[in-house]
Amino acid sequence: MRFISTRGQSPALGFSDAVATGLAPDGGLFLPETLPSFANDLKRFEKLSYPELCFEFLKVFATDIPQETLRAIIAKSYTTFSHPDIAPLKQLSEKLHVLELFHGPTLAFKDFALQLLGNLYEYQCRTRGETINVLGATSGDTGSAAIHGLLGKPGTAIFILYPDGRTSPLQERQMACTGAANVFALAIDGTFDDAQNALKDVFGDQDFRKQFRLSAVNSINLARVLAQCVYYLSAFLRLPAAQREEAEFVVPTGNFGNVLAGWMLQKMGVPIRGFRVATNQNDILYRLFTTGEYAVSDVRASLAPSMDIQVASNFERFLYFNVGRDGAKVREVMQTFKTTGRYTFANFDKDSFDASRCTDAEIPGIIKDVYRKYGYIADPHTACGFKDIKTDRPSVILSTASPAKFPETIIKAIGTEPTHPSLEVLKAKPLVKHKIVADPATIKAFIREHAVR
Ligand SMILES: *Cc1c(COP(=O)(O)O)cnc(C)c1O
Repeated sequence: MRFISTRGQSPALGFSDAVATGLAPDGGLFLPETLPSFANDLKRFEKLSYPELCFEFLKVFATDIPQETLRAIIAKSYTTFSHPDIAPLKQLSEKLHVLELFHGPTLAFKDFALQLLGNLYEYQCRTRGETINVLGATSGDTGSAAIHGLLGKPGTAIFILYPDGRTSPLQERQMACTGAANVFALAIDGTFDDAQNALKDVFGDQDFRKQFRLSAVNSINLARVLAQCVYYLSAFLRLPAAQREEAEFVVPTGNFGNVLAGWMLQKMGVPIRGFRVATNQNDILYRLFTTGEYAVSDVRASLAPSMDIQVASNFERFLYFNVGRDGAKVREVMQTFKTTGRYTFANFDKDSFDASRCTDAEIPGIIKDVYRKYGYIADPHTACGFKDIKTDRPSVILSTASPAKFPETIIKAIGTEPTHPSLEVLKAKPLVKHKIVADPATIKAFIREHAVR
């Protein structure tokens, strides 16, 4: 299978090259040239374990990796998960289900993609006899998930910039207490945007980029979207048969990365009824799906920080399908959006989508309510999914993080502190961070000194 850019001006690539490239050279995002259909495979898929299901799905896309190798890469990626079902589906009431996506090493859903991506990178380094230096900026979860994807992998090093003192203490520990020699947690004096801007300059230096085979960590890699399709498929197959085609998937989201995967799976012949885009107070996606207008506004820090975004970086993929797969039209819309900060859609496919918005003032109350009703502790992101829950039809709420990652909010809501063994282990480990000024020259000097060659 080949992968094309949403902006239509980059050559189509095979799976491994598209994964290694990340962002397409024309600035677009990679998508499969055609979407396969799994409609006739669902019966056969029912009996498979999670890794086997993932293999059956991915082998249709990753046609340039030998099948037994792919199977081994996938198996290895999910052995780091602590639950035997990998993505357990828990039933809270007759029609209400929670899909727990936080049993990976960093206790948030990004592990599903980044454990796999780390092993794909390792495979590429091995087969091509190359090394790779991964560089990213994070406000929390993405950086730690990327670090744990590459932890100790030969031929790789990873550098993550984060705003010193502005991530949660546990998130910092997940980045800076790994003890791995190929991991560099770079605490910058400044904000996430400062980190992001410095990073753009470093990537803008093409010679430097080539010399160190720099690769970006971000939320737009093709492998992320495909890896994420699998848990929707798994949940669909595990629902009671009578509820499968009735259930709405409720997805706490900011970048549109998670829900996009579910929607694409629906386009691949899996009869999912629909999705609810559940935002926090940073509600660009809520406004889009309720008014048709996609318009930037300021980001306000919230209790669900991993959804605090200004523009949804994965939205472009959805846009591509909505403008009739027309790369020129995507370029035009993205250009308008870039210059004016807004774009109004005359008509687009809203049939599969609902939207909700949850303010910070509501989050602790929802956590308390859910705990009282179901004895279940939802993290602040997942709590946004419990807003406006419908009782007349089945729902699957995607739980994107373990409550143990956000003890302050949980204590405030229900009075007890959630814990997790892996976080307790972290608290005892030495923290190794490199304080650094967020300017491109300093960052490049650091990379030059510590990069894998
Ligand atoms: C990253 C993240 C999200 C948002 O994911 P999207 O890519 O915006 O869909 C939600 N919850 C948690 C815990 C996260 O780490």
